Amino acid sequence: MQQIFNFSAGPATLPKPVLERAQAELLNWNGLGTSVMEVSHRGKPFIACAEKAEADLRQLMQIPANYKVLFLQGGGRGQFFSVPMNLAGRGDLSQHLVTGQWSQIAVTEAEKYMKTEIVAKTQTANGKLFVPKQTDWELNTKAAYFHYCTNETVDGIEIDWVPNCPDVPIVADMSSNIMSQVIDVSKFGIIYAGAQKNIGPSGLAVVIIREDLLGFARKDTPAVFDYQQQVNNDSMYNTPPTFSWYLAGLVFEWLLEQGGIGEIEKVNAEKARLLYSTIDNSDFYRNQIANENRSKMNVTFQMANSNLDSLFLQQSAEQGLQALKGHRFVGGMRASIYNAMPLEGVKALVEFMKEFERVNG
Ligand SMILES: *Cc1c(COP(=O)(O)O)cnc(C)c1O
Repeated sequence: MQQIFNFSAGPATLPKPVLERAQAELLNWNGLGTSVMEVSHRGKPFIACAEKAEADLRQLMQIPANYKVLFLQGGGRGQFFSVPMNLAGRGDLSQHLVTGQWSQIAVTEAEKYMKTEIVAKTQTANGKLFVPKQTDWELNTKAAYFHYCTNETVDGIEIDWVPNCPDVPIVADMSSNIMSQVIDVSKFGIIYAGAQKNIGPSGLAVVIIREDLLGFARKDTPAVFDYQQQVNNDSMYNTPPTFSWYLAGLVFEWLLEQGGIGEIEKVNAEKARLLYSTIDNSDFYRNQIANENRSKMNVTFQMANSNLDSLFLQQSAEQGLQALKGHRFVGGMRASIYNAMPLEGVKALVEFMKEFERVNG
């Protein structure tokens, strides 16, 4: 079989050793003679698996003891309404930084439950999109929470600093860059992530929540989305997505084997550097994001001649470089290079890009 590198934005490529292990133990998990999907979530074997996944995630992200970790259903978007519903008891205003598609949708969902304010949006200078500095916008200390997205998957915009607002809990959508670099969890009130980019299969959401933010849910919050309910039940108020949880656990083990997040961060930096320098060193390709906001996970690029897009996509796919089409809102190309994308995959893409430019430039 031809070597495939899958640059899909999500569901995205998973580490090969993880898939091989899941395959090896699919029919006989833990010596039980069944798969992990077929056993009770309340039985000892699955509870041990679930607890290990949480412990490994805590170790990887250095999650302080005063934070709870939840494994819930509903993916990333499930949190767009869960957050306002669960924090509504703290006040009726949420503030938002809007830097792209996802943080905008989070506002639209929050509006159903509370007043919302947009503190700032991405701007353009010299043809490049950038995120305004915090000195150019202001947080209201009365807000129930402040929400932003650390990595805009569609646009390819990343924010690598954490806003400073001691009085307002920061809620961060880290769906597409969680565990890609070392962060200080204690700066956040809530971190959440849909799993299908950097954690595991789609449908699962990981929620990391500081304990003092529990207990503020609206009365009409559905129990399965009520953080406190789920904390009280170790994320098993309803049947959790057991296979996704198990697979996420394998991904966490794999990350620990790679040396943890600090090590994978170095690989991620090198992958991004290779791609952006290829783009910057040519007039054939361009990227429209200001340097300080360029995503290390989703590298968006366009060709000066967009008529070549379909040829680029066709020929790259023929060489095993899959799913490079940009989001329909942005156009052009997007290479998603999450933790599981090996450096070789990015090298192969860069070689292809150079050759494509040589022939068509
Ligand atoms: C993919 C993504 C989402 C949506 O996740 P779903 O699981 O499809 O609901 C939300 N936010 C970000 C940043 C994403 O990348």
